[in-house]
Amino acid sequence: KLYNQLQETKGNIRVFCRCRPLSKEEVIAGCATIVDFDAAKDGDLGILTGGATRKTFRFDRVYTPKDDQVDVFADASPLVLSVLDGYNVCIFAYGQTGTGKTFTMEGTEQNRGVNFRTLEQLFRTAEERSDTFVYNISVSVLEVYNEQIRDLLATAPTSKKLEIKQASEGFHNVPGIIEAKVESIKEVWNVLRTGSSARAVGSNNVNEHSSRSHCMLCIMVKSKNLISGECTRSKLWLVDLAGSERLAKTDAQGERLKEAQNINRSLSALGDVISALANKSSHIPYRNSKLTHLLQDSLGGDSKTLMFVQISPSDKDSSETLSSLNFATRVR
Ligand code: ADP
Ligand code: MG
Repeated sequence: KLYNQLQETKGNIRVFCRCRPLSKEEVIAGCATIVDFDAAKDGDLGILTGGATRKTFRFDRVYTPKDDQVDVFADASPLVLSVLDGYNVCIFAYGQTGTGKTFTMEGTEQNRGVNFRTLEQLFRTAEERSDTFVYNISVSVLEVYNEQIRDLLATAPTSKKLEIKQASEGFHNVPGIIEAKVESIKEVWNVLRTGSSARAVGSNNVNEHSSRSHCMLCIMVKSKNLISGECTRSKLWLVDLAGSERLAKTDAQGERLKEAQNINRSLSALGDVISALANKSSHIPYRNSKLTHLLQDSLGGDSKTLMFVQISPSDKDSSETLSSLNFATRVR
């Protein structure tokens, strides 16, 4: 109810900002914190930009390094649940490499993130509603790297190029991609692990590779109301975006340059789509990147979008931090 009221007054896009703690290495190196959380409760984040200068950014929520995975998911959970009511939803994490995008979305085995908690919540709620609804849940895990889609659940590499097709009005899919039916939360962890380990295949540095590709989990839900007979089909995208940092000048050649240009193009395309939606523009440029094309059904219309802007507290990262915060301001 409260969410729906908010919805009417504020539209369908939410932006949450999450700041990770200073790492041990940063503490040892004497890095200073440039983030001020005094007004975090009101959604304000202060950045100390040198001397007494302070720049303020406003968000729907601000998470300090003290907030844990449970705190973060508590706010995302109503949004996630709306997929069971037939809404398309998209949640993504944006930010410089090393700011906690994967921590927020994937998490760790001890400290599970949004992806796992989402599926857990969907199964729990589906069970609670089982007198009235039958839900069918399946997942795809894919990666977009250099504007190419790779199915991370495929066990054997295929030579066939995966492309996005429009199957019907407001419904896009990727023919040939694996949609794994999941019946219980126990199966989910295995599927997520399969996807996550497949990211490494064919690259010599897993972390580097994953910071240069978008990792996308799609949860597809079919529901049937046993009383009215009404059926719905909806999907929830959970996206760990490629790192938003600019390329070092020394790396500006060859494969690195191509990767960087593709990342840059797709993140700008995402920003363009979201700001076009926020401005109620008549043309939404979904087709400018694989990323936005894939997410098309879950961005705009009556679908719900949540962006986590991930930042580092360290003075060493201040320019990337400001650039991420400015990106977020643009879409809000
Ligand atoms: P990214 O995916 O943006 O490159 P990671 O998720 O890999 O960043 O995070 C970088 C490091 O910081 C990891 O070791 C991660 O565990 C740690 N980290 C990130 N966010 C938090 C947080 N909120 N609390 C504790 N550790 C965090
Ligand atoms: Mg990562």
